[in-house]
Amino acid sequence: MFPIMLVVRDRSCLVVGGGGVALRKVQGLVEEGARVTVVAPEVVAPLQALAERGLVQLERRRYAPPEAARFALVFAATDEREVNRRVFDDATAANVWVNVADDPELCTYHLAGRVRRGPLQIAVGSAGEAPFVVRRLRQLLERRLGPEWGEWMEAAARFRRAVRGRGLERPEREQRYERFFRATVDPDRLRARVPTAREEAAWLEAPVEDHATPTRPSPQPGVAAPTTTRPGFVSLVGAGPGCPGLLTLRGHRRLLEAEAVVYDRLAAAALPCELDPSVELHPVGKEAGIHPMPQDEINALLVRLGREGRRVVRLKGGDPYVFGRGGEEAEALEAAGIPFEVVPGVTSGIAAAAWIGVPVTHRREAVRLTLLTAHEAVKSDGPQVRWDLLAQDPHATLVGYMGVTALPKVVRQLVAAGMDPRTPAAMVERATTAAQRSVVTVLEQLPAAVAEAGLQPPALFLVGPTVGHAQRLDWFARRPLAGQRLLLTAPAGELGWSLEAAGADVVEVPLPVTPAARVVMGALPLTGCVVASRAEVEWLDDERAGAGWQESAVGWCVGRDAAGRARELGWPKVFELNDALSGAELVERIAAQLR
Ligand code: SAH
Repeated sequence: MFPIMLVVRDRSCLVVGGGGVALRKVQGLVEEGARVTVVAPEVVAPLQALAERGLVQLERRRYAPPEAARFALVFAATDEREVNRRVFDDATAANVWVNVADDPELCTYHLAGRVRRGPLQIAVGSAGEAPFVVRRLRQLLERRLGPEWGEWMEAAARFRRAVRGRGLERPEREQRYERFFRATVDPDRLRARVPTAREEAAWLEAPVEDHATPTRPSPQPGVAAPTTTRPGFVSLVGAGPGCPGLLTLRGHRRLLEAEAVVYDRLAAAALPCELDPSVELHPVGKEAGIHPMPQDEINALLVRLGREGRRVVRLKGGDPYVFGRGGEEAEALEAAGIPFEVVPGVTSGIAAAAWIGVPVTHRREAVRLTLLTAHEAVKSDGPQVRWDLLAQDPHATLVGYMGVTALPKVVRQLVAAGMDPRTPAAMVERATTAAQRSVVTVLEQLPAAVAEAGLQPPALFLVGPTVGHAQRLDWFARRPLAGQRLLLTAPAGELGWSLEAAGADVVEVPLPVTPAARVVMGALPLTGCVVASRAEVEWLDDERAGAGWQESAVGWCVGRDAAGRARELGWPKVFELNDALSGAELVERIAAQLR
């Protein structure tokens, strides 16, 4: 199949047949100014009407071989296969393009579903294999593409003429087209905006300043980064504790609008995989083998990006102002005169409690909640946590961040100050993620239990009477797929939904794989992927060397094709699943494998 758009104006076209199907083709051809001849003994009334208005030439008779040979383009829609076949033979013998309705074998071209907005046309084809798909995709685009695209296309054509009129070299021209496109098209929402004359004039000038407020900003290869007078804007966004769904709607939106994202290791899992590949990604947290960037360098980076006029998201684990040094970043921005905002996030202490079944306040049991950093307990300088006061308050919940190393000392201080050593206590590592581990016990036994379980940072402890609810309300760890982190290609659909409902962390990756999706994959270990076609297997095969992929990761292959391909490529663990399997069955298969 080789798509083209024919100019049919003033071309002689033949339509054989006079029913509804023929009518629609005739209407399309007439609209485009073709000279249409209709040959049919009987025709529907609207065809008759077109003939009476002189818009088509109607010949009320049977097809007369080999007349198809005389036309530029032929279309047949009779209900007699013999006639259709004859038309096809005559046309092909004369090298004339021919289409027989609903008979792909008798076609040398296929009709495309078409969405038109002024001079802009989008055509959809299925090589005659699945017209219903064409119809639905066409309807979908019809809904999604607003009427503004027509005028936008006219503006684009006008802009192109203006650019060409300047006699610029190719890269210079491309630069200007890029500015036009970036500033007027919102790729996520498929919206276009007709620019003002003033904007167009500005984009034609040499690119010293970007006058546009781009919707999808950052530089494409070969296009200089805008040095701009537009003030930058930094959003300090809380990513939540690790589970991607716990990012706020506003935070998500800021990320999609961003030109640069500066993120911590703990926040990486919350990046939206669909983030545009042109968005600059700056990891600044500790990652395998890479040292974290010192805080003053992070501040300097934020200030620099802001000064360059970028829209920046500083994505931080949990809430930006809870032990995250977000305050220092805000101060640096304020001092540099860069506008900023704070988008709060779900702090890990509150989320960890929820995920192990601990209400942080509870009527008559806990009426106070304290978030504290245990780190101070092992440092001698700086303000100290008043363990003595906290120990005196039995109706409270204590949440200790950065508490792994300090834990034994904290417990000693609390008990020495009079806290009941039998107070329920817990520690949670990587709360809300597939890698979550926790121990629940009583205060005096917590350090030993943590050491035995080998819990590692990032982890926090919870102390207080409501921690006693943990066993009964533990809704997360008891779900069958808790601990699974599975990759699916987008849209994950029913399978994705079922896996998530069963407790798996579902990473929904768009193909081709985006840089943001790679960061997300690498943020935590993947326990497997669910693939349903050879193509998906091949795409993911390239990714398997990346961070996050374990040698033990399972390829759950829906259908023989996918499984066969995965085996060919040497995937170490391949499970073949029935093509027709439901979400519930998939959950059951994976759960069975874990038992
Ligand atoms: N701003 C963050 C906290 C940053 S300090 C927030 O609001 O959550 C880093 C500490 O947070 C870690 O040492 C650990 O104690 C805690 N932490 C962050 N994410 C965590 C998680 N998913 N599970 C358990 N503790 C976490």
